[in-house]
Amino acid sequence: MVDRSFRLIFLGPPGAGKGTISAMAAERLGIPHISTGDMFRAAVKSSTPLGLEIKEILARGGLVPDALTIALVKERLAQPDTVRGFILDGFPRTVPQAEALEELGGIDAAVDFEVSDELVVFRLTGRRICGSCGAIYHVANKPPQQEDICDRCGGRLTIRNDDRPETVHARLAAYHAETEPLKSWYGARGLLLTIDGAPDAETVYRSFTVRLEHFLAER
Ligand code: AMP
Repeated sequence: MVDRSFRLIFLGPPGAGKGTISAMAAERLGIPHISTGDMFRAAVKSSTPLGLEIKEILARGGLVPDALTIALVKERLAQPDTVRGFILDGFPRTVPQAEALEELGGIDAAVDFEVSDELVVFRLTGRRICGSCGAIYHVANKPPQQEDICDRCGGRLTIRNDDRPETVHARLAAYHAETEPLKSWYGARGLLLTIDGAPDAETVYRSFTVRLEHFLAER
């Protein structure tokens, strides 16, 4: 399955496992994992003009304006490492973003990871991130050996600012209002592949690889 190009987008609510599965699949397929959320968080951290403009939007769980987001992705997709494909994790999140992506060359599959709102809240409010290497933990599902310390690098674990309960509810509301309609948008174009995102990451990853291979072979 590694001898062709893969232009993939990952849909699904926050906490569906998009970041985890993206990282696993991108490594296996040798294509870049492009997370607009990671790009925005890096901009906020380094206080670039973009970062100052969007800091407050991220803190309240809203969506960054389409024009800004599309410009950022356009620039990223122009990089030479995307010629064999890419995984876009968290983009598009609105119909205008999906339309812009079509103009940039389109995609091979939109993979939707389905997870209930209850599971999203459980996963996000228990999520801990290593401030040094970015490794992801969960207080109940994947606790570190030593509380608040990263097993991999010894860094300190932190709670992502937007994983606090009030913000999680705002992010879920933005997902249902703006992003969920993309399921029927891609479905109507024959590009939607739906995966159950509720099981553990290894199980979801296995079902993703098998189902994607069939999906692409049939198109
Ligand atoms: P994520 O890490 O994908 O959950 O994204 C974190 C935050 O970045 C989101 O809650 C939004 O505020 C912002 N963001 C990420 N991707 C997009 C996008 N495609 N459009 C608008 N805002 C986005």
